[in-house]
Amino acid sequence: MTPIRDFPPGAAVSVLTPDMPLRALDYLAPEGGVATGAWVVVPLGRREVVGVVWGAGTGGFDPARLKAIGAVLDAPPMRDELRQFLTRAADYTLTPLPAMLRLATRVPGLADPPQMRRLIRATGTLPARTTEARTRVLGVLAELGGAGLPQADLCRAAGVGAAVLKTLVAQGVLAEGEVPRDLPYPRLDPGSGGRALSPDQSAAAAVLREGVRQGGYGTTLLKGVTGSGKTEVYLDAVAEVLERGRQALVLLPEIALTADFLARVEARFGALPGEWHSGVTPAERRRLWRMTAEGGVGLVVGARSALFLPFRDLALIVVDEEHDTSYKQEEGVLYNARDMAVLRGAMAGAQVVLASATPSLESWANAQAGRYRRLDLTARFGAAELPDMQAVDLRAAKLPSNHWIAPALQQAITARIARGEQSLLFLNRRGYAPVTICRACGQQIGCEHCDARMVEHRFQKRLVCHQCGASKPIPEACPSCGVEGRLAAIGPGVERMAEEAAELWPEARVKVLSSDLYSSARALKEDIAAIAEGGADIIVGTQIVAKGHNFPKLTLVGVVDADLGLQGSDLRAAERTFQLMRQVAGRAGRAERPGLALLQTHQPDHPVIRAILSGDEEGFWQAEAQARQAAGMPPYGRLAGIILSSTEAQPPYDLGADLARRDGPLRAVGAEVWGPAPAPIARVRGRHRVRLLVKAPKGAPLQAAISAWLAQVAVPSSVRLAVDIDPQSFL
Ligand code: ADP
Ligand code: ZN
Repeated sequence: MTPIRDFPPGAAVSVLTPDMPLRALDYLAPEGGVATGAWVVVPLGRREVVGVVWGAGTGGFDPARLKAIGAVLDAPPMRDELRQFLTRAADYTLTPLPAMLRLATRVPGLADPPQMRRLIRATGTLPARTTEARTRVLGVLAELGGAGLPQADLCRAAGVGAAVLKTLVAQGVLAEGEVPRDLPYPRLDPGSGGRALSPDQSAAAAVLREGVRQGGYGTTLLKGVTGSGKTEVYLDAVAEVLERGRQALVLLPEIALTADFLARVEARFGALPGEWHSGVTPAERRRLWRMTAEGGVGLVVGARSALFLPFRDLALIVVDEEHDTSYKQEEGVLYNARDMAVLRGAMAGAQVVLASATPSLESWANAQAGRYRRLDLTARFGAAELPDMQAVDLRAAKLPSNHWIAPALQQAITARIARGEQSLLFLNRRGYAPVTICRACGQQIGCEHCDARMVEHRFQKRLVCHQCGASKPIPEACPSCGVEGRLAAIGPGVERMAEEAAELWPEARVKVLSSDLYSSARALKEDIAAIAEGGADIIVGTQIVAKGHNFPKLTLVGVVDADLGLQGSDLRAAERTFQLMRQVAGRAGRAERPGLALLQTHQPDHPVIRAILSGDEEGFWQAEAQARQAAGMPPYGRLAGIILSSTEAQPPYDLGADLARRDGPLRAVGAEVWGPAPAPIARVRGRHRVRLLVKAPKGAPLQAAISAWLAQVAVPSSVRLAVDIDPQSFL
């Protein structure tokens, strides 16, 4: 098949590369011509870089001085749909297009030609004489059913030396052959492992299937309590996609979740999907990137960056746990993968499913307004019931100092241990204690690079800054006054809760689940699997336990401090607390045993706590929506954050003040600007940070106004300016 040559040799074409600062540059089409979307190598300064032919030359460059495209790569051209998506995403997030393209080119060996690799497979001929080693080799290959393995892998798997293989090849028992390195993924069988759906599951699945069948764009909010079968339902829509030979993408917020999920996909469709996240090997990443473009993979499961894969025929995007804050990328290109999934769906003409037990207010409001379809699964599947939720009033509990487990919670855990059931102590605070104070001088130990306290991590025997990651050994003497032995840990972290649990239940197996205690996603996955099988009596965990893990023996959730999230002045404090508490409580009683959630609080009458306990979700959302509407806050108004930072304190502040004075372009669209103000964490990694906040009415052309506004000033080279459209974090 000869590709369409849009541009004849010598024509000026515009090439975009991730290495250009702001926009595409013009080059001359090479011998043989070149098509729009083609991957090419072009000279840039003294380097050769990989880029994409974006379209016709833009002109404005002296044609006599244009350089020629060096080579056209043997890779599937970028489709119009992806180019449009990147353009729109760049416009929306006010990101330069080259930086947006970088997200779509995070693939190792993009410029390398397709590679072959040597595999050994069985021919079916039997060896002249069987030995144990030979039997093992043939056993390993038989399990793969004809697929073959590289020599080194086969030696390892069979526990034999290369000589054994060599003999078998000589005898014709094994054959060596070359196959492309980037092979298509095993076909998923849409019909194989489907379960009988309950009536409301099948009603929801029918609507999603119909959407896929009709094709075209549409977004559905799939809301259902944890355990109601949302996954089961959207996998049914995936089956519809597979039946049509098209492609589906499922985004998950946490790599640690994928293990569980992959196993489910395998059980449902008879083979594993393509996987895309930071833990995947470079060779697999390259293979998956190519196969999405060539149609050699039907289902991809990935982290948010999977949104930028070059799918050939994307029919469905699922964003699971759509409310999860980790979908917002807070460094580099600031984008929200949930919103970008909707944009990609619109560009690709694909169905988008946002699944959650506790949707974001944004998605809830979009469904209310009729922009999204809404499907509700109300009952938990089978016998499992939502846990009973009760408050434990900490004002009445007389706790000894440095203890945080109230008697009511203590009794409940004791009862679980006696019955051989698991309990979860939830506290969203990593480390041993959030504050270390000197009892002699009263000073707290802070980070040298940030305006943040150092957090004691006793397992690691270090103080760690949660902003920049800096750490140091826990000192003997106070760094401020030099007095020894008077440093004291104040307040609880998960490590300290584990200590209290071990003290109260010396016989119990206590396990801490906190992201910093794991060096790899794999180690975390393994521990989660072991715990799910009953490898702990008490789990002490941060929010990583809130995310979809299945612990069948877990029947009690104790929230150590339900007030924690309510203290901040964050716009979404109430929403987040509501979501997190309900998610965590949803961990209990997933199997046949009923669960109980106990929320320790000093404010049992706080409206948010009352809404959590009563389970009146719609009531909570209505109230929250009204409050936001009255204040003109998202999703009923729009926000953008401007973060200015520098190693010196004054320049960002001066620039911020200058911007605040020149607010004409903002006022012209009805927007206002607040600030400059020092960011709540005013110094991170040695950089001083100043924030401005732009607030605009819902329909205002916010991005255009901000561009015009920022264009008025020259940003000094010592200052970094970042624009955060729809900010989630205000730190
Ligand atoms: P959610 O995604 O809403 O949390 P899941 O799809 O994970 O819910 O379902 C919760 C549990 O119930 C899982 O263990 C799942 O295998 C089981 N389950 C859900 N629906 C069915 C069904 N129709 N038949 C059998 N098991 C089901
Ligand atoms: Zn720091």
